[in-house]
Amino acid sequence: MGQAGWAGQVRRVGLVVRVVSALGVSLVLLAFAPAFATLDTWVATEWQATAGREVAITFDDLPIAGVLPRDIETSRELTRKLLAGVAAYHVPAIGFVNEDKLNAAGGTVDPQRVDLLRRWLDQGLELGNHAYSHPDLHLTPLDAFEADVLKGERVTRPLMAARGLTLRFFRHPFLHTGRDLEKRAAFERFLAEHGYRVAPVTIDNDEYIFARAYDYSAARGDAAAARRVADAYVPYMEAKVVFFERNSRELFDREIRQVLLVHANMLNADRFGELASMFERRGYRFISLERALLDPAFQSADTFVGTSGITWLHRWALTKKMAKTFYAGEPEVPGFVTEITKP
Ligand SMILES: [Zn+2]
Repeated sequence: MGQAGWAGQVRRVGLVVRVVSALGVSLVLLAFAPAFATLDTWVATEWQATAGREVAITFDDLPIAGVLPRDIETSRELTRKLLAGVAAYHVPAIGFVNEDKLNAAGGTVDPQRVDLLRRWLDQGLELGNHAYSHPDLHLTPLDAFEADVLKGERVTRPLMAARGLTLRFFRHPFLHTGRDLEKRAAFERFLAEHGYRVAPVTIDNDEYIFARAYDYSAARGDAAAARRVADAYVPYMEAKVVFFERNSRELFDREIRQVLLVHANMLNADRFGELASMFERRGYRFISLERALLDPAFQSADTFVGTSGITWLHRWALTKKMAKTFYAGEPEVPGFVTEITKP
């Protein structure tokens, strides 16, 4: 099913759920559900599924992500807006840091950029390690990669320790986890020895393409294009969420605790409230990554060693040899968004 089809389904279900919420009486829904001949199955599924949905929201590439060079003032403004949105929805988010982004021009750590990370901790949020320089495990020898991971905790670990917190999660750059099981396992042993757990992702998406188009449009002074990109962002994300909810039900016969990956970029600084309210409308409550990983689904067998950085739902599905139809219908980025990112 294409993008338009998914969006249509999402709108229809969203409408029903909103009407029901407005009435505030579930029995009314159940009594009238059979009358909606084409909708009753949808409503029943939706009703059952929304009872206990949970999602952990994770941000990558801190202190800030994006394709534009940003001075300290705009970096602060981005961080301020993003964290205000996160606070407004009481999201216990985690942000994964690339410490090379803390450097000033001369290569020394810029205390003003470290302050951007402090703001996350001040708000009671958690930080994780995303390696120092965002290296690709598939292109980097293991010892060099591990050295980069340790280099990537030199600021963050003491920053957290000063507040009694421990650095305990690692997110693979590009979600590249290794091209063979030996290297993958060796690196995971290294992580465990240094007190880290892998931070998986279930709701993977191409939000960064929207963010790139948004940044480019703003840089060109094309406010209309920037708005069009941003307006298409959350409907796209909702279609992705619907898709992975379906994957979850097909794989586990239930909806697991989801983990969303997005980035600390200007698009989310400007639209996080809209993104969070989409999750709320679908019945989600926001949880920590730690709580998400208590779901036994995350113990599923995973022998994935492919080239791409894909959702863990598909790693488990590939390991389980699910039929091809399982992967069908994943929503795509609208053409006009991709078009804007081309030079
Ligand atoms: Zn990243």
